[in-house]
Amino acid sequence: MSDRVVDFRSDTVTRPSDGMRRAMAESEVGDDVLGDDPTVRALEERMASLLGKEEAVYVPSGTMANLLGVLAQTSPGDEIILDRNCHIINYEAGGSAVVGGVQFYPLDSPDGFLPEDELEQAVRPANIHHPNTTLVTVENTHNRGGGRIYPIERLEAVSKFAAGRGLRLHMAGARLANAVVATGITFERYGALADSITICFSKGLGAPVGSILISDEETVEKARFWRKRLGGGMRQVGVIAAACLYALDNNVERLADDHALASRIGRIVGETPGIELVFPVDTNIVIFNIGGADAAEFVSKLADRGILALAIGPGRVRMVTHLDITDDDIDYFEEAFPGIAAG
Ligand SMILES: *Cc1c(COP(=O)(O)O)cnc(C)c1O
Repeated sequence: MSDRVVDFRSDTVTRPSDGMRRAMAESEVGDDVLGDDPTVRALEERMASLLGKEEAVYVPSGTMANLLGVLAQTSPGDEIILDRNCHIINYEAGGSAVVGGVQFYPLDSPDGFLPEDELEQAVRPANIHHPNTTLVTVENTHNRGGGRIYPIERLEAVSKFAAGRGLRLHMAGARLANAVVATGITFERYGALADSITICFSKGLGAPVGSILISDEETVEKARFWRKRLGGGMRQVGVIAAACLYALDNNVERLADDHALASRIGRIVGETPGIELVFPVDTNIVIFNIGGADAAEFVSKLADRGILALAIGPGRVRMVTHLDITDDDIDYFEEAFPGIAAG
């Protein structure tokens, strides 16, 4: 085992900085279930305004934010259209099905962007045999799609389609800030394309906990009810919401640094014989195939050199850059990786 450890498993591994901890310690708090926490209110109002929406509700996790987005905009037995590789289908423990009683209509898409030409046939015609199609979801940036940014004109097409068919559109935007920084497209412009948006503060933004669901007043009111019902009503949580406000002030623009480092990793793995970069590196995620090798074994060989990555499928590995990764860490990776890949 190496004495140096560089953790590329996820952008969730960052620890709150001294400045963030100070902001947390100094936060004003109240009972948020009673609507009394000024720091939580400030965060909710700021996010609603940033996305050009009426309201927002602060929740413990991105999983809960997406779940509330589904629950507030569907009824049991409804069907929702999503891409097969999305986070909601793959990594949220089936919550929408268990709690919301909805079923999924997954569309195949290697990069995670919905195939526009299949949307029309995915909407069930009104008929007593069919479930009601009520919601479409998009993921931006796309996690299993290698952190790719949903192309704006394709988002516009999906948004127009959903509106035309009377369907709601939810944007799972755990890493929407990465897309904003990489493209220069504003939060507000993205917000205008969806009825509801989820954003996580615990990913690249570097907060220890917290996500938010942003939408119209009626949807957020329903989401608040569901948050309480699921046991997610929290009390003096200004202490953690303060970390999110701090992240908005200090950690958004710097996501560009994470993207530059991920792009270096992409170049290094792309130039390594036997390794195939699966997606262009748009933001802070790098996904590559390792030929016939076993991903768990490959990841364990990387770990022996202190390089932590995730095996995310047979022969497929993911690395993510974040606040605690430096240029020097990538130099170290560049030196070690070709030898490890060569076996
Ligand atoms: C991380 C993530 C979430 C939510 O994750 P939590 O760990 O529950 O906060 C949702 N969607 C995407 C795309 C994610 O990457």
